[in-house]
Amino acid sequence: MLSNTDAEAPPYRELSPLRLWRSGTSRQQACLFGGWLALLALSVCMGVGMVIWGWSGIPIEFGGLAVYLTVYPPLWICLLLTLTLGWWWGAIPAYCATVSLALYAGMPLSWALLFGLANPLGFLVMVIGYQAIAMRRDLRGLSSLLFYVQQSFIACVFSSSGALIWSYTNDYERAALLPVWQGWWLGALLQSVCIVGPLMAMLWPRVERWLATHPQLLRDSHVRSRGSLLGLLASVTLGVLVYGYATFSLADAQVNPDALRQTMWIFYWVFVAIVLFMAFFGYQLFQHWQKSQDVLLAELQKLATTDALTGLLNRREADRRLAAEWDRTCRSGHSTAMVLLDIDHFKQINDQYGHPAGDAALRCLAAVMKSVMRKVDFGARYGGEEFLIVLPETGLRGAHAFAERLRQEVASELVSHDGASFRIQVSLGVSVVRQDEASYERWFSRADQALYRAKQGGRNRTELDEPEVEKLA
Ligand code: GH3
Ligand code: MG
Ligand code: MG
Repeated sequence: MLSNTDAEAPPYRELSPLRLWRSGTSRQQACLFGGWLALLALSVCMGVGMVIWGWSGIPIEFGGLAVYLTVYPPLWICLLLTLTLGWWWGAIPAYCATVSLALYAGMPLSWALLFGLANPLGFLVMVIGYQAIAMRRDLRGLSSLLFYVQQSFIACVFSSSGALIWSYTNDYERAALLPVWQGWWLGALLQSVCIVGPLMAMLWPRVERWLATHPQLLRDSHVRSRGSLLGLLASVTLGVLVYGYATFSLADAQVNPDALRQTMWIFYWVFVAIVLFMAFFGYQLFQHWQKSQDVLLAELQKLATTDALTGLLNRREADRRLAAEWDRTCRSGHSTAMVLLDIDHFKQINDQYGHPAGDAALRCLAAVMKSVMRKVDFGARYGGEEFLIVLPETGLRGAHAFAERLRQEVASELVSHDGASFRIQVSLGVSVVRQDEASYERWFSRADQALYRAKQGGRNRTELDEPEVEKLA
């Protein structure tokens, strides 16, 4: 049900800053690079503002529980940039904003440089997720929304590792770490879902359309390999483990039993959500895997049954269908006909115009066959330039008329290749199923004999299976 509501998205592709620089128009460069620099500056200002106004670890009463939230506006901008344009576009402003606010708050430079990696790391996990599973980013269907929430959660837990650096450099006690850490991941999650989510739903369809019309500016799509899926699964598992460990060890440090109880409850509910996410995620992975298997299977099946040059059935598949058709006809007592045809003097065509021109003639013949066949008929390339058509519910007269029409159509068609134009002719042999025979091979060999007589009789003609003609007379 989920997969029906959300059509498979095209693979994840990012706007390449390098390609924009090299082959974008000056207007595109001014808008995108200029806009991006402005957003970078805004992120840095708001990052510093967040320290000035103390938006970290704000205690909030939520359903009787005291939870902590951190409000961090640069996240809105940088996550949007990451999700719409690509990782670098969001990671650089996020890094600058975090490093600036850390330096402003008095963190030593070396720590600040490390601290700055927190959000880019979270974004990376998110991007890997979208690369691994081609999921729509418009958040307008259930699967795309749930996937986004789940990826946000994992990204937020990864980013919140920065809280540990923050608390360490500020000499917080272990008990004081909880508000910072929880405020960080819970705040980031709520902001991702409640602020960035709706913005994404609004913006993404437009951005997607723009990106689709400017493929020359995009980085080549990443191959969604088994390795990237495994990497995603590993990062999700690691995120959940980090979350569980951090919550328990921080809750353990609480001296106040009330705070401990509340932390445990929060942990419980988040854990329930994680289990649901993981189940959903497993389902997504399975679906994704199954879809690629189906595509692969269909391709293999097509490869195994069709002739690459003409798109008609190949000999193996023709034999299988001939046997089935013979069986069906013997049981139903109706009539089924076969037309076997071979191009006349094809060696000369190859010699005169070249092998590629000969191939063009084969393709042209196949196209004519397809145009005269009915839906219930099937055509196959039986040998090099020998073709077969089976006509269910058709007697000898009908098959003869069909063969003659085909012969005339082929003769009237002009084959063009590489400046040369020529015509081809075919000889045809026709036979119908005889119930008294032991297998379909006899049916085939009677058509083959008729074709041989057509060749002997001067080519460019149709011959019928002899015993049947006597019956007709
Ligand atoms: P005939 O009228 O007696 O059938 O004369 P022919 O020259 O057509 O003789 P034959 O049927 O024995 O010719 C088969 C030729 O078809 C030989 C080979 O060069 C050519 N041929 C077979 N497969 C291909 C192919 O895939 N591409 C091209 N270009 N030629 C092919
Ligand atoms: Mg031949
Ligand atoms: Mg031939």
